[in-house]
Amino acid sequence: MWPDKQRGIRVSKEELLCKNACGYYGNPAWQGFCSKCWKERPRSAAGSTQDESPSNDRTPLTFSKFEEKKSSEKGRRINTVRKFFWGSPSPPKRQESSESYSNVLKAYQRLEPGDFTGFLKLLRSAPSQRLQSQCTAFLNTMEAYHDLEVQKQSDFVQDFYQSFAECFSSLPEVQVTCIMEHVEKLVMTRLHKWVFCHDSSDDEQKDLALQRRIRSFNWITPQMLGVPFPDKNAEVTGDPFLPAITAIIEMDAKRAPQDKLACVSKCSQHVFEGLSGSSTGPANADDFLSGMIYVVLKANPPRLHSNIKYVIRFGLPHSLMAGESGYYFTNLSCAVAFIEKLDGAALNLSPEEFEGYMLGQHVPSGGKGRPQVAGDTRLLLEDLKGRQEKVDQGVGALNTELHEWVQAVHSQLNEATTQFALVQKELTAQGFSPPSPEVPVEGAAGDQSVLVLTDQQEGPKDTVC
Ligand SMILES: [Zn+2]
Repeated sequence: MWPDKQRGIRVSKEELLCKNACGYYGNPAWQGFCSKCWKERPRSAAGSTQDESPSNDRTPLTFSKFEEKKSSEKGRRINTVRKFFWGSPSPPKRQESSESYSNVLKAYQRLEPGDFTGFLKLLRSAPSQRLQSQCTAFLNTMEAYHDLEVQKQSDFVQDFYQSFAECFSSLPEVQVTCIMEHVEKLVMTRLHKWVFCHDSSDDEQKDLALQRRIRSFNWITPQMLGVPFPDKNAEVTGDPFLPAITAIIEMDAKRAPQDKLACVSKCSQHVFEGLSGSSTGPANADDFLSGMIYVVLKANPPRLHSNIKYVIRFGLPHSLMAGESGYYFTNLSCAVAFIEKLDGAALNLSPEEFEGYMLGQHVPSGGKGRPQVAGDTRLLLEDLKGRQEKVDQGVGALNTELHEWVQAVHSQLNEATTQFALVQKELTAQGFSPPSPEVPVEGAAGDQSVLVLTDQQEGPKDTVC
């Protein structure tokens, strides 16, 4: 529709990063800030408390830096949550004796990432009893108070993550992260049914609105979005983004935020694979975001808004702010934000054209719709026809040449036969007997083929060299 240079969607990596330039990924849900900077904004700048604005800066960037991040307000909140769940405003006593505590630490240090069963076993073992009862108490309380406003529930869960991580603050960051991923899975698998798409939020209405909006965009083609769609062959083998579409649809079935994030990552990797089939060279960040928007529009994933909000509210902060999962999640959030305010200008269409498409009066012609495929097929057939004609011409020329050659051979043979008859007559007249039929044939191999061609002729043969 228009050259690749003029793509409608442009995004640089810098634009995906937190507005505070802290180096972490921002998110439209936090107005372009990362969750940390969003929570740490001055109260005046924050203005009135918004739905998604956690009421303070309680979440530190990394678990190990928990202590140094304490502010008085945060301290107050943490104490409240501790009283609520741990029964005392003081941090949980690590273990009864320092020896058994260090044994617990050692056991947790040996945990492999992804070994959730191992984590559960460890949590149920005798030395972990205190941690386990804390988890159980927290989950029971959360269930009992599941009517609480969802933002409060989010605050409690995030505070619980922090308090829990604090028990392991002496371990290296990477191990704390691994432990906390297991904790998140344990907690959120159980709480999902209480807090997902919570009654206190307008998530359900927003899901329906987004779903309707995406459906109304069913006329948008990859070309309109500037997605470098792979070449014509892909039309035959199917949509190269199908695995990405499947992955993003699967997200709704997962319960733990990290499992939902894993679906987003899987989807994103498939988007890159889909883009790699295009002829425009390696995919860049613009292509990736365009591809992501295309996949979201095609998939219309169930409860997309709720799923994104759920991950933001109950996911581990570090998995949203950094790393691969953070990058992909930020792109998904940007794709949804783009779709929510999508208009004609974003697709290089005039308001009239956009309106026409929305009302079903126009059908995309520049895209890979049926007319485009039919056009491509017609071109292919024309090309094939041209090649067939050339082959036909070649065959005709070859036939003529062969015919002429056979005729030339025949006339040479006739001439030779005539000359032979004359010579024979002359010899007979001079009293010689005719030569024996075994006269060897002289000449090259080519001459023998002449013999084969004319072997129905009886009698001695000669060649004309
Ligand atoms: Zn930031």
